[in-house]
Amino acid sequence: MMTSNEIREKFLSFFESKGHTRVASSSLVPHNDPTLLFANAGMNQFKEVFLGLKKLPFKRATTSQKCVRAGGKHNDLESVGRTARHHTFFEMLGNFSFGDYFKREAIAYAWEFLTEVLGLPKDKLWVSIYEEDDEAFELWQKVAKIPAERIVRMGEKDNFWSMGDTGPCGPCSEIYIDRGEDHRCDAEECKIGKCDCDRWRELWNLVFMQYNRDENGTLTPLPRPSIDTGMGLERIATVMQDVYSNYDTDLLRPIIAFVENMTGKKYYGDDRGFPFRVIADHSRAITFLISDGVVPGNEGRSYVLRRILRRAARYGRELDLNEPFLYKIIPQVVSLMECAYPELRKNLDYVQKVVKFEEERFNETLSDGLKMLSEGISRLEQEHKAVVPGEMAFMLYDTYGFPLDLTRDIAQEKGFSVDIKSFEELMEKQREKAKAARKESYKIDELFETLAPLPPTEFLGYDRLESEGQVQ
Ligand code: ATP
Ligand code: MG
Ligand code: MG
Ligand code: MG
Repeated sequence: MMTSNEIREKFLSFFESKGHTRVASSSLVPHNDPTLLFANAGMNQFKEVFLGLKKLPFKRATTSQKCVRAGGKHNDLESVGRTARHHTFFEMLGNFSFGDYFKREAIAYAWEFLTEVLGLPKDKLWVSIYEEDDEAFELWQKVAKIPAERIVRMGEKDNFWSMGDTGPCGPCSEIYIDRGEDHRCDAEECKIGKCDCDRWRELWNLVFMQYNRDENGTLTPLPRPSIDTGMGLERIATVMQDVYSNYDTDLLRPIIAFVENMTGKKYYGDDRGFPFRVIADHSRAITFLISDGVVPGNEGRSYVLRRILRRAARYGRELDLNEPFLYKIIPQVVSLMECAYPELRKNLDYVQKVVKFEEERFNETLSDGLKMLSEGISRLEQEHKAVVPGEMAFMLYDTYGFPLDLTRDIAQEKGFSVDIKSFEELMEKQREKAKAARKESYKIDELFETLAPLPPTEFLGYDRLESEGQVQ
């Protein structure tokens, strides 16, 4: 069986053998892009290179990039634990061409890696292309010998990629694997490979950056088209390790096993295992985010971290973990990941302290909050209502520190929805009040500064090259 560490290494060295320079993952906190919450794709750290604003001393690069998709444009938080393939934190393997090779080579490399290096069965692989991209349709048949029936044309939403409203953009092509009839769902589309369920496991996305879009929306061909690709390590590990879900791979299963030991409860791959999966996923996100310098708080990135952490803490209650426990999982995450991300070991103590501190603080109000919510819901049930009022969600937020999605999780489990609009209105009012009074809640987060502060994360991507004077 191929381990995830081996797959990651095979990928990077394969592309090195094709003339790519191995570049380290950037921090999860983007250093060059205030519009981006967290790094969510391998191309982020090369954005300026693709835009032609920055030049690197090489034209081909390969990375394994730390990504978080738990807020902003890409938010997979709700899918975590429900699908077999979505995480908040995951690693994206990628190869990049900065105006060097294009479609034909990108397709040839991806195909060679999957079918020759990894030995995946050719007849189980399908591809999607952008509906107007006849060139890709031809190339997949010519270069990879994929029959036309397994090339699915998709629309702009799925298969046309753009960096923003203007700038570089182009069609993309996704490689997915048919996990077989056993995994199919009931949708009619599922039969023809056009389904968003777990049967069709998207593995790899190849983006063909070939146009520039101007303010009027007009596309002009780029003189030097580029390539940006991304493949989820957890997903390819699932396939290589011949398991059903990402949670059964060597990246996540040991964390679940750790929680099994901690609770004396057994994990199941079905609905019963949901809290285990959420805790395993969130533990990784928490570890990596804090190690990259994020602390729990009430704004922006810090609030996303707080939401993830508190959500995991609440799912602990479902496994009868009533005392802080997440901080105990962190060393397990570090042992699994330190080989690829050595900074984790260095930051372990600090990360544990931050997690424990936040858990303890939340634990003070969690029980009372849960009680208040469940009583509230019972009352609403008696009144034959199905919506948790905004006031209740706001009170849970304000008094008990419940992020909205946590309240929503619980409400949903009982078949309730939450009046988000009135919640938001109350939040807005409070923000105004807080602004006027320079509120105390901001101070709480300064408490984290009393813990050994973390040195700013080193960005080992091309910053390192810059300091070595290699970048023009
Ligand atoms: P999906 O359709 O499955 O949500 P996507 O099309 O949103 O994936 P891309 O933006 O194309 O994903 O990202 C490139 C690759 O990264 C995907 O093909 C997949 O292998 C992986 N990936 C994307 N999102 C996640 C996630 N939330 N967790 C794990 N892997 C992911
Ligand atoms: Mg997605
Ligand atoms: Mg997709
Ligand atoms: Mg995709």
